[in-house]
Order: sequence, then C-alpha cells, then structure tokens
Amino acid sequence: MTLKEPKLCPDGECFDEIMLRVLPERLAELEKARPAGKASAGTVVVLHQMGNHGPAYYKRTPADMKLYQPECRTNVLQDCPAQDIVNAYDNAVHYTDHFLGQTVRWLKAQARPTAMLYVSDHGESLGEKGLYLHGMPFMMAPQEQTHVPMALWLSKSFQSQRGWDRTCLQKQADQALSHDHYFHSVLSLAQVKTRWQKTELDFLAACKGPAA
Ligand SMILES: [Zn+2]
Repeated sequence: MTLKEPKLCPDGECFDEIMLRVLPERLAELEKARPAGKASAGTVVVLHQMGNHGPAYYKRTPADMKLYQPECRTNVLQDCPAQDIVNAYDNAVHYTDHFLGQTVRWLKAQARPTAMLYVSDHGESLGEKGLYLHGMPFMMAPQEQTHVPMALWLSKSFQSQRGWDRTCLQKQADQALSHDHYFHSVLSLAQVKTRWQKTELDFLAACKGPAA
C-alpha cells in the first residue's frame, strides 16, 4: 500500500496515528470479504505501535508533540545527557497518550459496542545503572525494563451489553497483572469460548455476573 500522508509519514517512516487513518478502509474490506448472510460476531483489531521503541526515541514524535526539551537526537544514547534521553522518551510517552486518546475517540464513534486493551511489550532502561534499551534476560532485568502499563477502556454500550461489575473492574487496576493475562482476557472481551482459555489468567472473569 502506498501511503501519501506527508504529515504522518515524513521521510518514509510513519507515526502511529497512520494506523487509525487506514483502519476504516481495512475494516470495510473485511466486511466485503464476509460470506453473504453471515453477520459479524465481532472483530479483534491489533494496533502494533512503534510506541517508544528506541534507540531513536526522538523519531517517534511529530514536532507538535515535543513537550519536553531539549531532547536527545541521536541513536548513540551514551552521547546524550541523561535528562535529554528522558525528554525524548517522555515525548514518545506523550504521543502514545495522544494516540490512545484518538483510538478511544474512534472507538466511541462506532455504532457497535467497543473495547480497548492496551499493554506495552516492555519498558526501557534510559541509562540507569549504566543500562540502555531492553535486552536483559528477564531474571536479571531491572524494573525499568519489565514494569509496564496496561489500560482497559470499554464503551458505554459494551458495558451495558456485558453488565460486568464496574467496581470490580476498577479494582483490577490494583492486581499484579502480567502479559500472561493478556491473551486470556482478550478472549473474554471477544466472547471467544475455547478450551485454551484459562480462567485464572482472565482478569475480567471475577467481574462477570453469574449470567455471563
Ligand atoms: Zn518492543
């Protein structure tokens, strides 16, 4: 696909928002490919961001998202003052925040019930203890590389359709969840029933009423 989006794709590399730009078109194609008479049970969309991937953190943000200055503008992180690396990284966090906000805006505008489950694949060392990036084996990796954010958003119609306990859902934010929970909880959101789903790894399971 050729993307003629000079603002979102300068120099042949695109910012994450490009995914939202092409999403409606892709979904329409899916709809066309569906066998006649078969209604859609639901669609799972994976938005795989560039996010905060390094070492060129400064390349992840358009000019109007660069709140924190000065930012490190090289791949050779060791050459930058520590604060400049943090600034470039925080600008990318700011952009992800904006991107997720745009995603929720798009989901809210849809006619059907919608939900979003966000999780980072890993954190990054920004020079703490002399470490950079995220390549350490899990057992030895510092918290900066392994402690990641996860966020769940449910549309109003999704909430009333499922009738899950809201207080219980909010309480899940205090649980020590991990990537192990992701797969099983997405199955739950999509109402996919399979023997591969482990209820103990579905953090939504506790919030479903007896009817669900
Ligand atoms: Zn990654």
